[in-house]
Amino acid sequence: MNDQIEKQALSVVLIVDDEPGNIRILVELLRPYYTTRVAVNGETALRIATSDNPPDLILLDIMMPGMDGYEVCRRLKADPYTQHIPVIFITAKDSEEDQITGFETGAVDYVTKPFSPVIVKARVKTHVELKKFREFYEGLSLRDGLTCIANRRRFDEYLNATWNMSRRESSPLSLILIDIDHFKLFNDNYGHKAGDACLIQVAQALAASLRRSVDLMARYGGEEFACILPNTTLDGATSLAEKFREGIMSLQISHAYSPTANYLTISQGAATMIPSSDTSPDILIKAADAALYRSKKAGRNMVGS
Ligand code: GH3
Ligand code: MG
Ligand code: MG
Repeated sequence: MNDQIEKQALSVVLIVDDEPGNIRILVELLRPYYTTRVAVNGETALRIATSDNPPDLILLDIMMPGMDGYEVCRRLKADPYTQHIPVIFITAKDSEEDQITGFETGAVDYVTKPFSPVIVKARVKTHVELKKFREFYEGLSLRDGLTCIANRRRFDEYLNATWNMSRRESSPLSLILIDIDHFKLFNDNYGHKAGDACLIQVAQALAASLRRSVDLMARYGGEEFACILPNTTLDGATSLAEKFREGIMSLQISHAYSPTANYLTISQGAATMIPSSDTSPDILIKAADAALYRSKKAGRNMVGS
């Protein structure tokens, strides 16, 4: 049991190589310190990297049948979900030109074969630690202090990243804006402290309703939240918003002063776009905001689209 817990806390290193012999040596070398995972080709590596349990670092061979390591690295760096995973190339290609190409595709380090076990261990350790530090500080700077969910800065960053990604893939990007109904009346009557507690409860409930790791729930402003849903149609977004609406009602947070209901409710606006190169994420925000305005106008506790 203790073993199990310790194993879970270990960072995950993904080893990508088409040579079983290389894999065996690297797994033996790193297994005492990390949870090791293995992929024998680029396609499998990308699948593991984009899964709900992505690695903390990737040791990537360059010459592989099918997709080569350079291409794997380029794709990892183009995807906002995987671009922060450090990649170390470990390869027999040892010319200066090869190394430059490796760094240009976005790798953080480069080890040539035959490799020294001590050097591989040291470099992996350095980059896993750097990633952990970065995540820790980003966690602080990108999280809302009150509700602990993503803050506005994280929202802006992620919207830009997913906008570019969706444009490249010509896939629909959805945004839901969520605004608590009559929250001023809640604050005025129950007090600011109760208002804060309510915001925490609502934020946590909204964030917990998300199932895909690529979806993001953020605090957008005072009593407003925003949800980014990559690769999601308007139908998908409105049905999720309906789930949010029911979820908040089912919390049964008393709001005796609300003209809308006895309990706290939310109004929402959903919008979806396939981004094009001559538009910016602002137009998606404007569209969701207009939909939110319509749902407020139409009586609140609704999903507008
Ligand atoms: P509507 O249904 O039209 O959205 O009405 P509303 O009262 O919710 O909207 P309005 O924008 O008039 O008021 C929002 C209120 O949210 C005002 C402010 O007192 C409260 N609020 C904003 N941020 C915080 C916060 O961090 N803590 C608390 N307790 N209240 C906040
Ligand atoms: Mg508001
Ligand atoms: Mg409001």
